[in-house]
Amino acid sequence: MTILIQNIGELVVVPRGPIGGRSMHTVNTITKAAIVVQDGRITWFGQACDLQYPDECHIIDARGGCVIPGLIDCHTHSVFAGTREGEFVKRLEGKSYAQIAEEGGGIRVSVEAMRSASCETLIELTLPRLRRMLQGGVTTVEIKSGYGLTVDDELKMLQAVSQLKALKPIELVGTYLAAHTTPREFVDQPEAYLDLILDDAVLSRVREEKLAEFCDVFCERTAFSIEQSRRVLETAKRYGLRPKLHADQITQIGASVLAGEVGAISADHLETIHDEGIAAMARAGSVAVLLPACSFFLGVDQAPARRMLEADLPVAIATDFNPGSSMIESLPLTLGIACTQMKMTPTEVLVAATANAAAAIDRQDSVGAIEVGMQADLLILDVPNHHRWMYELGRPSVRLVLKKGKIVVGEA
Ligand SMILES: [Zn+2]
Repeated sequence: MTILIQNIGELVVVPRGPIGGRSMHTVNTITKAAIVVQDGRITWFGQACDLQYPDECHIIDARGGCVIPGLIDCHTHSVFAGTREGEFVKRLEGKSYAQIAEEGGGIRVSVEAMRSASCETLIELTLPRLRRMLQGGVTTVEIKSGYGLTVDDELKMLQAVSQLKALKPIELVGTYLAAHTTPREFVDQPEAYLDLILDDAVLSRVREEKLAEFCDVFCERTAFSIEQSRRVLETAKRYGLRPKLHADQITQIGASVLAGEVGAISADHLETIHDEGIAAMARAGSVAVLLPACSFFLGVDQAPARRMLEADLPVAIATDFNPGSSMIESLPLTLGIACTQMKMTPTEVLVAATANAAAAIDRQDSVGAIEVGMQADLLILDVPNHHRWMYELGRPSVRLVLKKGKIVVGEA
């Protein structure tokens, strides 16, 4: 099946990731463009005047709209049960996270809800979230475990992700984040908890059932130390799970330096990153995944995005969608926040949510770029260029979504 998209106002030719921060602000664009898609892959793109019409094809009229690669949300906690709006209000009224936790709130609420939910319930709760993400132009999503905090409940979360893969046009990638926090049963013996979640039988099962491709750890003063985090990531590596970290979010304990040392594919958050961390990540080629919706939701300082861009780190942006610190599932809105709050340009945020987000989940050779041979995950926007897309901050502007060359949102 051949598809021709014509009458494209602006085609943003995002190259394959990872793209260093200094090169993210310039990307080629083609006006009056066309794309040909065959068997789910891009086979030609260019100026419409150079197009040789395929013999038989299905024509999609972009009506002068902008065409970009499908968006990739490379850091989410989209599988969760229960909500925490009471805590949201308390925080707005001035209560600290410690006070809220003392009153029984915080992550514990999500953990209890997760433990009492069945895998079927989790799928039911997550499906509408993923459908809305797809409507917003997100064609690939990474999802972490981390609310079960028992071996069975962590595996249940990843099994939900696996089963959701089969149900949706949206592509999913699983990450094992059992080291999200120490569960209350092990509050004084975090090492004993790590023994359980790093057990050979557990990690072998994750590998054999292909439940996750990455292992993540929350490396923070209030969660896991540098040495504990190193243990988690080095152990998981032996089972083929590539390291990721929640790093430098609240305090600076050297997590981004550890990211470099263990060769992490990405270090995420980075609100308090220092020059040493930037240098370590640059040496290792780690992607810096920034989460501006989280800081925005919490009303705290943003990560120093411009410093990382100037240091030429490949920067990606994701929602961190979760019920506690970022109940924002819209990646386009998150990109708008990155523009206005982190002073990133529309071109930089587009690269951050496509080519570099793909690199953060090892998908750079199949998605996130406009290149011959790439999977045809494409968005047609109802705006003439990508600057206008970000300028109309928060307005849904996706007219059509193609996943592997098939229309999954909108009508041709
Ligand atoms: Zn997170």
